[in-house]
Amino acid sequence: MKDQVTALAAFEEEIQSCQHCALGAMRTRFVFGVGDPGADLVFVGEAPGLEEDRQGEPFVGRAGKLLDRILAAIELSRQQVYICNILKCRPPDNRDPLASEVEQCLPYLKEQFRIIKPKLIVALGRVAAKTLLGVEESLKNMRQQVYNYEGVEMRVTYHTAALLRNPRLKAAAWEDFQIIRDRYRELAGLPPERKQEQAGSPGE
Ligand code: SF4
Repeated sequence: MKDQVTALAAFEEEIQSCQHCALGAMRTRFVFGVGDPGADLVFVGEAPGLEEDRQGEPFVGRAGKLLDRILAAIELSRQQVYICNILKCRPPDNRDPLASEVEQCLPYLKEQFRIIKPKLIVALGRVAAKTLLGVEESLKNMRQQVYNYEGVEMRVTYHTAALLRNPRLKAAAWEDFQIIRDRYRELAGLPPERKQEQAGSPGE
C-alpha cells in the first residue's frame, strides 16, 4: 500500500504538466484523481467539468455531491475508493473527448490502473464506457453487462450529471449501485452488507 501511495504520487508529479494534446493549454487545473491509491473499486468518468477544472479534483460540484451521497448509501466514501476521469484536462464547453485526446491521455489512466490494481472498475456514463470498451451500445444495454477491461471486471452505470438532468434515471442507477456494492464486497473479501433496497434512492 505504501508503495502504491508513493508510486501514484510520483506518477502524478511526472505528468501534471502534460501538454500532449491541446487541452493542456486550456486547463486551469490538471485533474489527476482522488481517493485510495490501493482501492479495490475505481470509478471512471469521461473528463473534468467546470468545477473540476477550477478545483483540480474529479467529481466535485453538484454531480460530485450526488456521487458522494450514493457512495455513502453503499457505505463508502471517496477516500475508500478511487475516482478519476479518462481525460485529465477539461474539454471546452464540456464537449465529448476527441479520439486524438483519448489516444494521448488513456495511457495515463492505464498506468493509474496498473499502480492501483483495482478489482472492480465502474465506468460512469456512456462516453467513458464506450471509450474504454470500444463499443457503440446504449447505456441502458451496457449497464446490464459485465465486462472485462484488460483483466479487471468492469461495470457501467449512469454518470451522476445525467441523473441530475434526468431524475427518472435515479431508480435504475440505485439498482446498479446496489449490485456494485455487493460485487465490490465479494471481490474485496468483505462480508455481505445489509440490504438497503427498501430505503429508496439516495438521490431522492
Ligand atoms: S488531456 Fe491528457 S494528454 Fe491532453 S494535455 Fe491533459 S493530461 Fe495531457
